[in-house]
Amino acid sequence: MLMLTIGAFAKACRLSPKALRLYDELGLLRPSYVDPANGYRYYGVGQLEQARLVAWLRRLGMPLAEVREVCALNERAPSAAADAVRAYWDREEARTAARRDLADFLVGQLALRGASEPRKDTAMMLELRYAAHSDTGRVRPANQDTAYADGRLLAVADGYGPAGAPASAAAVAALKPLRAEEIAAGDVLNVLEDAVGEAARAVRDTGKDTGKEQSDAGTTLTALLLTGSRLALVHIGDSRAYLLRDGGLFRITHDHSMVQSMIDEGRLTEAEATAHPQRALLLKALPGHAQAPDLRLHEARPGDRYLLCSDGLHSVVPDDRIRRLLSAGTSPDETVRALVDAANDAGGPDNVSCVVADVVEADPADTDVAGADAVGSA
Ligand code: MG
Repeated sequence: MLMLTIGAFAKACRLSPKALRLYDELGLLRPSYVDPANGYRYYGVGQLEQARLVAWLRRLGMPLAEVREVCALNERAPSAAADAVRAYWDREEARTAARRDLADFLVGQLALRGASEPRKDTAMMLELRYAAHSDTGRVRPANQDTAYADGRLLAVADGYGPAGAPASAAAVAALKPLRAEEIAAGDVLNVLEDAVGEAARAVRDTGKDTGKEQSDAGTTLTALLLTGSRLALVHIGDSRAYLLRDGGLFRITHDHSMVQSMIDEGRLTEAEATAHPQRALLLKALPGHAQAPDLRLHEARPGDRYLLCSDGLHSVVPDDRIRRLLSAGTSPDETVRALVDAANDAGGPDNVSCVVADVVEADPADTDVAGADAVGSA
């Protein structure tokens, strides 16, 4: 067998001699031969493949203990090693997603502290021009969605189960007191989180009121609350929030659904998801136990247009069509109706709810926050 010195082997597999000595000590990659006279390590050419695998796994950030397991699996069954790498990467992505949310939250919090001078906040005061519309669709016997908008609060909830309609209405109603509160910008996410706790309790109570099994009923909830120049987002379930900015459409929520998690894991494409039999299965919803909603702060800009919608829209109307309808230059009221019409033209298989809000610079004389309810009704 052709033997390589540690230097030549290190060069060939792109691991440093220092790393190779460590991996020897850990039993991860033993040299083929160690000269008893001087302790020099020699490696067989046949070991290059394993050494490269170690180098790649380390580049992936995999801890040494797991690298050892993957290498051992690779000796016996490479497909099991592939499964182990996939499982590792799934965990990494989940960790990264959780850290991304935390980082977003911290960026928002620190930015708020940095922009705490009252004059600056006043100068950046924004307001919303809004409309909400909810429709039963073409197939369902009743509307269990709730859509709501006022000068500070935008919300869409999609109820399901026997008490779905009161559940979605209760979730949105639990947020309404926030529109009248003067919430310090630094507190808004905490206040929203508490309000979602209230919403969960209210949804649970609707189950009791109707005498139906509370486990059978629940709701999604996606809402934006304007505070100064920022929009605080709360989101649980598969209703969505989109932002139209500079002609581009950005989805700013992540569906808490089975198919979305399969897309995240690379097991399903977006196109396959639209026809998946379990596309309505939610991983999170209200009331739910110990299910933290997504909470985030967005820096709103004049000219932004926000859309909140239930899956009755986004499951049948492609994003590109949504973007074109939002970009058509029509008023929020005309736009929500055009969006709902588009869902119904596509068969209207589900209740469909839309809230559209344009961000404009505040007129100091105008303090109107009268709401536009579009609570689902048959
Ligand atoms: Mg729905």
